[in-house]
Amino acid sequence: MESIVVVGASLGGHFAVENLRRAKFAGTITLVGEEPHLPYDRPPLSKEFLRGEWERDRLKLARKSYEELDVELRLGVRATGLDREAGEIFLSEGEPLSYDGLIIATGARPRVLPGLEPRANVHYLRGLDDAARLRDSIKKGDRVVLIGAGFIGLEIAASCRAMGAEAAVVEAQDGPCARALPASLGRFLTRIHEERGVRLIYGASIEEIEGDDECIKAIQLGSGERLAVDQLVVGIGVQPNIEWLEGSGLALENGILTSPGLRAGEPSIFAIGDVANFESALFGERMRVEHWTTTVEQARHAVKNLLEGADHPFEKAPFFWSDQYEFKLQGAGRARLEDRLEVVSGSIEAGDFLALFEREGRLVGAYGVNRPAELVRARMAIERRMEFDEAKASLIKR
Ligand SMILES: Cc1cc2nc3c(=O)[nH]c(=O)nc-3n(C[C@H](O)[C@H](O)[C@H](O)COP(=O)(O)OP(=O)(O)OC[C@H]3O[C@@H](n4cnc5c(N)ncnc54)[C@H](O)[C@@H]3O)c2cc1C
Repeated sequence: MESIVVVGASLGGHFAVENLRRAKFAGTITLVGEEPHLPYDRPPLSKEFLRGEWERDRLKLARKSYEELDVELRLGVRATGLDREAGEIFLSEGEPLSYDGLIIATGARPRVLPGLEPRANVHYLRGLDDAARLRDSIKKGDRVVLIGAGFIGLEIAASCRAMGAEAAVVEAQDGPCARALPASLGRFLTRIHEERGVRLIYGASIEEIEGDDECIKAIQLGSGERLAVDQLVVGIGVQPNIEWLEGSGLALENGILTSPGLRAGEPSIFAIGDVANFESALFGERMRVEHWTTTVEQARHAVKNLLEGADHPFEKAPFFWSDQYEFKLQGAGRARLEDRLEVVSGSIEAGDFLALFEREGRLVGAYGVNRPAELVRARMAIERRMEFDEAKASLIKR
């Protein structure tokens, strides 16, 4: 293999090229990215960067320069198509790029809520430019309305309070992150936000939007309540960036469908990170995971498989964190709402706990607040497919 192209110059793309060089791949590497920026880290965009505690420099992912890594960067360039027969990627500018190996890490973008398209005071947060604009827009005392009580919406609400702004979260479901979090954890998140002055409005619908093409002034809810708006942020989830691959013959369905080893249909093409919809060998189901740690681990895994011509299954359990105020919520595995939840240490009310999830006798998930070491051990137990009781005993013994 002489040339590898990595499309998507963000977390997955950066770690793919770094791992290629670490694995002593000596051929040419080209990293193509639509954004004009060097690869940067996204989690601080809703946290430290938004609050003005960190500046841009601190977000950079590269420890070594890309010259040192001998990677050709094509930033500000979009991949527009893939010809698998010819082994070529079409670009928004310049000649097509030939590849022997291809790693796709084009991630995801926010879903846009019809009627609330981006405007001067209507924001979506995915990239550095979005975050910089939002940070400049939020002023002390502003009434910030967040649509969607997912993790990013809640993190932004927490940051707004630290910035001296008011925050109201409008959510269609009955609680925060309602499709992923059991009600008891949802109540915990609700409480910590309410105690810090955030309004959470659940089961809400938007009936009317007051404003014009430039700016919105207020939203009217189904309950009849009118919320005045200085800034509005929509966080209702993301959709994978796959349109450029239409007609390429790759299987596309809520992402790029891959094998358990992250192979996208053929031995020379892999998909990683938020865009990869992989068959999880650990859980026996397809999943598209939108977490930092999973992306980094998949980059390492895909590089190894690509260079070895292998398709070894990716068997790491999904893992994420979310920082809100002084609380670090972490989750591992693939818990479903119907799984049995047991708090095995601490208490949810106290905001210091480890909760495990059981399905058919097996440990399938864990959530914890301010318990990083225990979460790491719980994750390992999930990956070892441990019986619930055995895992619980080993986790609380220490
Ligand atoms: C605000 C925010 C906070 C987050 N906080 C956390 C957290 O606390 N914990 C956690 O676990 N995870 C968090 N995440 C999720 C984590 O950042 C993502 O899982 C991770 O960024 C996924 O990396 P990726 O490389 O797969 O995709 P992305 O980071 O989305 O990068 C994809 C890149 O590909 C580019 N691209 C897209 N299409 C093309 C194309 N056709 N041609 C060229 N380039 C293209 C995009 O412009 C982008 O730069 C957060 C995400 C956001 C947005």
